[in-house]
Amino acid sequence: MNEQSIDKLVIVGGGTAGWMSAALISRLSEGTLDIRLIESDAIGTVGVGEATIPPIQVFNDLAGVDEQEFLRDTKATIKLAIEFQNWGAIGDRYLHGFGFLGRTVGAIPFQHVYLKGLAEGVAGSISDYSLNNRAAQEGRFNRLERIEGTPLPGIVYAYHFDASLYAQFLRKHSEARGVNRREGRIQEVLLDSASGDVTGLKMEDGSEVSGDFFIDCSGFNSLLFNRSLGIAYDDWSEWLPCNRAVALPSSSEARSLRPYTQSIAHQAGWQWRIPLQHRTGNGHVFCDEFISEDEATQVLLDNLEGDPLKDPLSLRFTPGCRKKLWHRNCIALGLASGFIEPLESTSIHLIQIGITNLLKVFPTKGDNSAREREYNRRMRFEYEAIRDFIILHYHQTSRDDTPFWKHVKNMQVPEFLQEKMASFAESGHLYRVDEELFTEVGWLQVMLGQGIRPQQYNPLADTLTSQEVKEYLQNLHTILKATVDKLQPYPEFLKGIS
Ligand SMILES: Cc1cc2nc3c(=O)[nH]c(=O)nc-3n(C[C@H](O)[C@H](O)[C@H](O)COP(=O)(O)OP(=O)(O)OC[C@H]3O[C@@H](n4cnc5c(N)ncnc54)[C@H](O)[C@@H]3O)c2cc1C
Repeated sequence: MNEQSIDKLVIVGGGTAGWMSAALISRLSEGTLDIRLIESDAIGTVGVGEATIPPIQVFNDLAGVDEQEFLRDTKATIKLAIEFQNWGAIGDRYLHGFGFLGRTVGAIPFQHVYLKGLAEGVAGSISDYSLNNRAAQEGRFNRLERIEGTPLPGIVYAYHFDASLYAQFLRKHSEARGVNRREGRIQEVLLDSASGDVTGLKMEDGSEVSGDFFIDCSGFNSLLFNRSLGIAYDDWSEWLPCNRAVALPSSSEARSLRPYTQSIAHQAGWQWRIPLQHRTGNGHVFCDEFISEDEATQVLLDNLEGDPLKDPLSLRFTPGCRKKLWHRNCIALGLASGFIEPLESTSIHLIQIGITNLLKVFPTKGDNSAREREYNRRMRFEYEAIRDFIILHYHQTSRDDTPFWKHVKNMQVPEFLQEKMASFAESGHLYRVDEELFTEVGWLQVMLGQGIRPQQYNPLADTLTSQEVKEYLQNLHTILKATVDKLQPYPEFLKGIS
């Protein structure tokens, strides 16, 4: 037993971030930690019908979640891809699907073979070589680990779910493992005057909750990191100008039950459609310097597929993240740590990696400064890499039809992104830095979808003749088509889970 082990962990907030932390840490610490979670029903949580990315399955597995139970209780549906409309140009449409895309030929990455095929007029759309995108387009789904008789992997999927129901679902699991939930409003954060450590929380009723380590999951309030510890916020509005959202659920229509998220660009932002079992989550993310809230709400209402089920909810945010996400004996997760707009469904994922990174360098009661540095380095990298991928969608566009699009098209972008775009545009080369979240497959789909056409491809692709490239692409196309034809129609799959 490590004598320095912490005994009491306090989680501040019971939204997705709070209950994800409670569920995973309680499972993996196997009863050795006293875990308390404080939340206030009066303050509530943010839950607008969220889309996720495939690593959520790893989280759920680690947290001991049964998939069928999860799908049922959170009204979840399947997500294979995101469809982007009107992003590269008005009228454009492309998919960013999960999973594989083509196959490396010898040592030549697929995109070079594809680019050669395009140059020689023998390649179709890039989506033709993605199993996920084909299944999404055809509206079919099955769990499929591998494509039989080939070395190709199968379908990779994530979920759309109701984040409030997910928090409740994880609460049930956490409380069954001994997590102690406390209802009430925190009035004051108590600090040790010498060290600056957080020692406890004073509740509105005058009682106190003490702890050795604290996880700030208090949402946009950022009770510990902003209000008490005073950790400054890096504002990324210069690259991500959207700072508002209006969200509202609509009735579920048969035609909206697609196994993918939709992202539709408008004049000063974009709209999401997230189909759940019982309703569709909709929202319009926009920049209030270019469009008023009333206009943005009208754009959303004009583009609903079903009937509105509630009044629009208005949300304000500043894109960015706190300069430190671990400070003294606290970390910040979820909206308390920062926010990047949900264009690639990364917020819940950032919570997940925040928790798993914490588990890798789990604190003690002693000196945690090296752990703190490593955690901050890693989380900062994750945040910035995601930020740059999101900026790509705005900046790489031919749109200049409104002041908003002119602005994002002409703005200066961070160097990391500039370099990736230049590399692809010049030579078709893609690379992934330090296990950043989005792989070459993601970058490829979005760069092509947004309109980058590389000037060249790897000359080694010319070791293949045109005929070989044609046959290779056709063969892949045939295998994927035959595989998708055998999948279940998606509505049938959904019937089996509700
Ligand atoms: C417009 C929008 C769209 C989004 N879409 C997606 C998406 O598609 N995919 C995705 O992955 N993520 C998305 N997110 C993010 C996602 O909703 C949140 O990251 C996630 O739900 C985590 O929220 P949270 O737990 O950090 O905060 P919250 O849900 O706000 O929870 C905060 C908690 O802190 C408690 N609290 C606060 N102050 C106090 C106090 N003084 N005393 C006691 N308790 C307190 C509250 O009671 C609550 O329990 C979106 C977010 C927004 C704003």
